[in-house]
Amino acid sequence: MPHDLPKAYDPGAIEARWAEYWVREKLFHVETPAAPAGSQAGVAGGGEKAPAEARQETFTITLPPPNVTGNLHMGHMLEHTEIDIIVRWKRMSGIPTLWLPGTDHAGIATQLMVERQLASESKSRRQIGREAFIARVWDWKQHYGGVILQQMKRLGASVDWSREYFTMDQRMSRAVREAFVRLYEEGLIYRGKYIVNWCPRCITAVSDLEVVHEETQGKIWEIRYPVVGLTNEYIVVATTRPETMLGDTAVAVNSSDERYRHLHGKNVLLPLLNREIPIITDDILANPEFGTGAVKVTPSHDPNDFEAGLRNNLPQIEVMNEVAQMNQNAGPYRGLDRFEARQKVLEDLESGGFLVGAKDYVVPLGKCDRCKTIVEPRLSTQWFVKIQPLADRAIEVVENGDIKFVPENYARTYFEWMRNIHDWCISRQLWWGHRIPAWHCKQCGEIIVARETPSEAKCKCGGELTQDNDVLDTWFSSGLLPCSALGWPDDTPDLDAFYPTTLLITGFDILFFWVARMIMMNCHFMRSFKKGDVPFRNVYIHGLIRDAERQKMSKTKGNVVDPIEIIEKYGTDAVRFTLAAMAAPGTDIAFSESRTESYRAFANKIWNAARFLFMNVDRAQESGLWSLDEFRRSRIAAGAPSLSPELGRQDGSKGVSGFSAATLEDRWILSRFNRVAQEVDEALSAYRFHEAAHVVYHFFWGEYCDWYLELIKPRLAAEDRDEARIAYENLISIFEGALRLLSPFMPFITEELWHAVYDGKPPRKSIAVARYPQGDSEQMNAEAETEMAILQDLITAVRNIRAELKVEPRQKLAIEIFAEPGIRTLVERNRGAVERLANVEGIAFVEQSLAKAAGARSTARFDVRVLYERKIDTAAERDRLSKELAKLTQELTRATGQLSNEAFLSKAPANVVEGLKKRKAEVEVLVQKTTEALGELGA
Ligand SMILES: [Zn+2]
Ligand SMILES: [Zn+2]
Repeated sequence: MPHDLPKAYDPGAIEARWAEYWVREKLFHVETPAAPAGSQAGVAGGGEKAPAEARQETFTITLPPPNVTGNLHMGHMLEHTEIDIIVRWKRMSGIPTLWLPGTDHAGIATQLMVERQLASESKSRRQIGREAFIARVWDWKQHYGGVILQQMKRLGASVDWSREYFTMDQRMSRAVREAFVRLYEEGLIYRGKYIVNWCPRCITAVSDLEVVHEETQGKIWEIRYPVVGLTNEYIVVATTRPETMLGDTAVAVNSSDERYRHLHGKNVLLPLLNREIPIITDDILANPEFGTGAVKVTPSHDPNDFEAGLRNNLPQIEVMNEVAQMNQNAGPYRGLDRFEARQKVLEDLESGGFLVGAKDYVVPLGKCDRCKTIVEPRLSTQWFVKIQPLADRAIEVVENGDIKFVPENYARTYFEWMRNIHDWCISRQLWWGHRIPAWHCKQCGEIIVARETPSEAKCKCGGELTQDNDVLDTWFSSGLLPCSALGWPDDTPDLDAFYPTTLLITGFDILFFWVARMIMMNCHFMRSFKKGDVPFRNVYIHGLIRDAERQKMSKTKGNVVDPIEIIEKYGTDAVRFTLAAMAAPGTDIAFSESRTESYRAFANKIWNAARFLFMNVDRAQESGLWSLDEFRRSRIAAGAPSLSPELGRQDGSKGVSGFSAATLEDRWILSRFNRVAQEVDEALSAYRFHEAAHVVYHFFWGEYCDWYLELIKPRLAAEDRDEARIAYENLISIFEGALRLLSPFMPFITEELWHAVYDGKPPRKSIAVARYPQGDSEQMNAEAETEMAILQDLITAVRNIRAELKVEPRQKLAIEIFAEPGIRTLVERNRGAVERLANVEGIAFVEQSLAKAAGARSTARFDVRVLYERKIDTAAERDRLSKELAKLTQELTRATGQLSNEAFLSKAPANVVEGLKKRKAEVEVLVQKTTEALGELGA
């Protein structure tokens, strides 16, 4: 029997199986949609308009490529869950959907990993040499790299594995070279001396973004420089890095600073080295308000001084080498490490009488993000991208709305950064990465930049050519995504079909590193692409995952949640649902396991509902009353690809909807189903994952399991066989539809149960390629929803009174109801359901309000009273009513406040405002009734 589901839901038992199935069946592979005739690139001419709009709509997301060294953390888990929900929803909506996966070679991170491995064998990369080292890295990648992609497979990420890339593979290398050479030929890549952040441990330049600044308690020292030719005249300068004074080439003062006017044009004698350096005026560097108003200028070891040096034509004297040891220009300090040199310099200044004093000072110390070594500003020859021309277009496409940020405020952050952008230093002194395609002639110094390695390793002059030692910044290759992953520089069908991509979902931390660079590079290289240059149309920036106390997760705090551990405990679906349910745009997520526990319970609830359903279906089948198999066959024969209520309508064949709205509960559940489908659609379109998750949850658990299942039960055993059959069909249809509704959020359990619904013979290979429910307004029924809400209120009210009076569950009680005639009729018509679900025997209608009666409840639409012998405890009743009144008053105040709040009214959707107004009116009635009831008790 395919229908005997295990008693308990065990995610571990089903998830691995489906994950493997999805990969094996290549379920998420998308064929490249054929280009419409005549619109092929280059063929579109001839005066006729190419039917570009005839091309099928596609939906594409590029996975932010995780580092090849990476392991899945909660941040990935959130990002991948959000992407997967959107992608599954779009795919099920019938749009060719591509989620493009890949990994990043992650230059420095990977190199460090392999260096550590070598160190454990007492080897270093320099010992084994560049070629052998790179071979080691590939070897490492083969064995340990890309763990994250394996984890993604296990977690069922619906990516197209056939299109997987690695940023160092052949195809991507070609794109990188092409991009480099084109930029170089356009004059947008140049080589220059530049002050860069230098990590003396990694022996490489690190970008501004790879430097972390830590406020550190340090000191600032004041040093006096004697003025040449004047006795007892000094200029006092201050510095936090006294060892750099050895490289000073001037002292700058502000031209308006009266204190120094008489010294303009004079020199000072640099202490310790006794080198004469000029006193210059520089109004950018020297601030008369700050300290003595005079500053030392060290162009080779400070970025601001570097600029000042260029402005004032100062010489650049480097006093340190690449490992931050003092060099020959440091005179007697040569050979000392920078911090040893600092001590020695201070001692010598002190003994020479040059040290004025020292003060405590908070220094924003820059450290290498990778190894936490203090970075040193250093002059070096680097390759740069001249960024302004690229930035101009990248600003424009966001300004004009070609690219939209959600939440919107990230656009402001983006503009701020882009408008203050500096040229991008793209060379890194690493071995692992895309080696710069430039060859240097040892003899004449000529530089040849080329797509292909020069066939003869000789320069025109006959000198030997050697390739540049540096590699490119990792972000140079990932900045070319997504066009490079779709085949650029070739004009591929994929590029044609899927570029520009639709959406990017990523974290704030790489907005500049990656998002901005992708926009700049792609807009540049795709500028003549007929469908537009931007790499993506929308950027959704997700929140951070924090711990339950809203603290940042960190290893040192020990509050890091390992997604794999938590998944093993609760199942992937429950973890996904937790993240979705908390993922409100623009807010961080305070992850707590208790939420996951309750969504695990949600999965159980669905599982148990399925067991109940199948048990009945099997029984009906055995008794020959109704056969699912037959039903399924007739549905498929009618052209509906699944059992759902709305699918029959897709083909305009309303008659085979598979759902007969025979009763109020049928009309109600059908209406709710369609409305929820519409609400999910709206919420996901605005990335309101939390809302989408909430409405699906409420529908499946609250409305379907708790109400519909209970309401329909007697009909399954109806004597009228037709009535019973309809009940079965409705029950199954909505269940199947609800599974599809939930599928993007909980892909595993829905897949398992969906196959079970079809007895293992589903109309499609997977629920993931079945149709996503689309809300049909024709099937929405406001009247049925209102009526059912009244009945639910009534039943809930009676249940609550019973609970308060502590009535034995088995004891049936009579109730009295006071209500207007319309509601009486409604209750009358559904008497059976009310009696059964509220555990009631006998319903009487009375002509007098019951608001003041003991054991009664009032709502805006009716009063209900339970007839029960036990004496009412007046004090307890008064207490209950007082609490109730306080709660209602609070709600009324809040609602009144919201409804008079302009900001709220302008932002909230119309239906929310409408609902709130209605509720406010109800609460007003309730406040009045409760107040009266309290008065009656003699409060
Ligand atoms: Zn470092
Ligand atoms: Zn040459």
